[in-house]
Amino acid sequence: MEWIDLTVPLKEGMPNYPGDQPFRLRPLLRIAEGKVCNLSAIEMGTHTGTHVDPPWHFIPDGATVDQLSLDLLIGRAYVVSVRGVPAVTADALQAAGIPGDAERLLIQTDNSFGVWEKPDFQPDFVYLAPDAAEWIVSRGIQLVGIDYLSVEQFRAPEPRAHRTLLGAGIIIVEGLNLRELEPGWVRFICLPLRIEGVDGAPARAVARRLE
Ligand SMILES: [Zn+2]
Repeated sequence: MEWIDLTVPLKEGMPNYPGDQPFRLRPLLRIAEGKVCNLSAIEMGTHTGTHVDPPWHFIPDGATVDQLSLDLLIGRAYVVSVRGVPAVTADALQAAGIPGDAERLLIQTDNSFGVWEKPDFQPDFVYLAPDAAEWIVSRGIQLVGIDYLSVEQFRAPEPRAHRTLLGAGIIIVEGLNLRELEPGWVRFICLPLRIEGVDGAPARAVARRLE
């Protein structure tokens, strides 16, 4: 069994959520230019590409990204596939047969099948309806992952999905590519960079199918 990389590559020109800092790479030293080594600087937002939202992103007294529990960021996750819909609803999750003991939930949508191939931001991405966020809280799930740059509908009047999930202390992983996963249990590892006291951090996320 192989580990599957769920991380989108960080590169210039990658899709960027409107208003966020785009990814930039600046060469500082290059061997090809006679320097002793290759060395670069990067510039990016805390929510660029595959990244983690800790509660403090929307909740003033919530945990920051460096305070998240490694025991929640690493462990068994259930992969659910919800295809052919513009939004993931509570009804769709209820109908999907998600086991009652799932602590981590990865939601594969149509996003994973095309949206990442487009360099421009796709405003019509599949999002989590507010009632789906409430369903996730009611089921005691502690971490939820989705396959585009936000759980929230683009230009939603209120950030209800974020507030519901983060207000319950749930960790959100955004910007995953879940194309290669099939429904069922996986071992999941997602490690956001340990940036002190902030609202989010880029992460490497991987999964491996469990028998
Ligand atoms: Zn985010």
